[in-house]
Amino acid sequence: MTGQPLFSDSGTAPALALVTGASRGIGRAIALELAGQGLHIAVNYKSNQEAAKQTLAQIEERGGRGELCPFDVTDEAAVNSALDGLFARHERIAVLVNNAGVVADGLFAMMPSQDWRRVIDTSLGGFFNVTKPVIRKMIPRKKGSVVTISSVSGLIGNRGQANYAAAKAGLIGATRALAAEVARIGIRVNAVAPGPIETDMIKDVPVDMLKKMIPMGRCGLPEEVARVVRFLCSDDASYLTGQVISVNGGMV
Ligand code: NAP
Repeated sequence: MTGQPLFSDSGTAPALALVTGASRGIGRAIALELAGQGLHIAVNYKSNQEAAKQTLAQIEERGGRGELCPFDVTDEAAVNSALDGLFARHERIAVLVNNAGVVADGLFAMMPSQDWRRVIDTSLGGFFNVTKPVIRKMIPRKKGSVVTISSVSGLIGNRGQANYAAAKAGLIGATRALAAEVARIGIRVNAVAPGPIETDMIKDVPVDMLKKMIPMGRCGLPEEVARVVRFLCSDDASYLTGQVISVNGGMV
């Protein structure tokens, strides 16, 4: 796939890719992968500015371009304000990757309502808050690709993750519905459902327990998700929309 055009586009300045939650983990790997295709990366994060700066530094060390773009995806007004500024600087948004997400695991019967809401608000609320202004910018150009990071949990419903499974399954429904709405316009909308990936998110989960659930016997790497996202964004995936691609070592 390397060397293929990510996005055939006639403009002179590099097109923009917004990656939410790009300060760490899977989002950082996606930002680096897309920057390697010549896109200008808006590196979103919530609070970890140092980590976001490291992402940007790694992009620039590899000859890519980008900028920091902090906002909390759960805050619709903050998202709109940040995106107004971003779109004033960059006319053409080619790619949105909805990656920001959090976990707050616990058995459903004991789950505090704030844990339910925080997880849903980040993944599902974040999808609405960010995708709506971006898709409205893509529609007049009749071009664009949206990729959203769901989870194996949204497909099979992991025990102790009712909030997370609900949010991630909801993202799949939203992806399919939006894909159907904008397919004829030329905008593609897909989801990726990773299994356990080596990031901060799973650092407190016993690795041996996880490995037993995975046919390949290991967790995935952020780069293994990022390469699939790159493919989905690229013109190589030109007839692919409304799909959910599992990246999980053979779990489901
Ligand atoms: P991570 O290492 O914990 O990083 C989370 C990222 O999301 C950080 O950049 C964080 O920003 C950002 N973020 C969190 N809340 C935010 C908010 N309200 N607004 C803006 N940014 C916010 O997580 P990860 O493992 O890379 O996960 C990335 C995505 O993949 C998530 O959607 C996750 O659910 C999904 N996923 C992960 C796994 C896994 O095993 N790791 C498996 C399946 C799916 P700060 O640095 O500022 O906090």
